[in-house]
Amino acid sequence: MVARLVARGVCHTYPGGVRALDGVDVELAAGEVLVVIGPNGSGKSTLLRCLAGLLHASAGTITLDGAPVASLPARQRARAMAVVPQYLPALPDLKVVDFVLGGRYAHARRFAFGRSEDLALARAALGRADAAQWAERTMNELSGGQRQRVLFARALAQDARLVLFDEPTSSLDPEHQLAAFESIASLSRGQGASLVVTHDLNLASQFATRILLLADGKAVATGSVSDILRPSVLEPVYGRCLHFGRIESGGASRPFVLPWSGGPVQ
Ligand code: ADP
Ligand code: MG
Repeated sequence: MVARLVARGVCHTYPGGVRALDGVDVELAAGEVLVVIGPNGSGKSTLLRCLAGLLHASAGTITLDGAPVASLPARQRARAMAVVPQYLPALPDLKVVDFVLGGRYAHARRFAFGRSEDLALARAALGRADAAQWAERTMNELSGGQRQRVLFARALAQDARLVLFDEPTSSLDPEHQLAAFESIASLSRGQGASLVVTHDLNLASQFATRILLLADGKAVATGSVSDILRPSVLEPVYGRCLHFGRIESGGASRPFVLPWSGGPVQ
């Protein structure tokens, strides 16, 4: 079944009074790689957590295939939607393969968790994230980038139609940044879809099917790569700290955007 996530007028205010989201509309449909960009503190992670049902929006509606996300039983939600957090607040003292096996929990029949089939899927997911070499180590022995690849593997093992990623490549080397986005693109073909929060505008340029720009808890722009990665849209939000150019390759032309000291290069 094709999954469709629709959010309308989502607001969130944290205890203490910070209004992190202020009336955001988002839709995620099969085949999309929706990249969410925006400055630090603009509400990206809060939006992702509300969409995933991990945080209750203080106003607005969020539905998955027409049903309110917050009302779905956790296992049903996890079969439909996987979340890749930016980092784990506390690192489990667990073997990597067991941590990834946890991604299979929502699929397990009662009393059948950890079947050899689930273990094989967990090992395959580690392989797809190029993390199989750490399967027998514990999570807290890994570097930041290694952990990020294991978090990615756990989401692959979960085998959900929608995957929400929070800065999934922030600690990865260039080869694995590209590999991660290639995996995201392949998850999003056919019936799947992904929402990816990132600061990497150049990976967004190569892989986004649509970009949503957040600023101060509001969706200030949404559109194609070339609609969004342009000075008239980004400079009002990020300031004059970017250099814009284009890369021609294989008959296509894509924008690139670099953080650049001294403002735009003439
Ligand atoms: P982003 O992911 O875009 O950097 P966040 O969604 O994490 O931004 O944060 C949005 C705003 O909400 C920021 O001002 C941040 O300080 C605040 N915030 C985030 N998490 C909490 C929290 N647990 N309690 C209070 N305020 C929070
Ligand atoms: Mg964040």
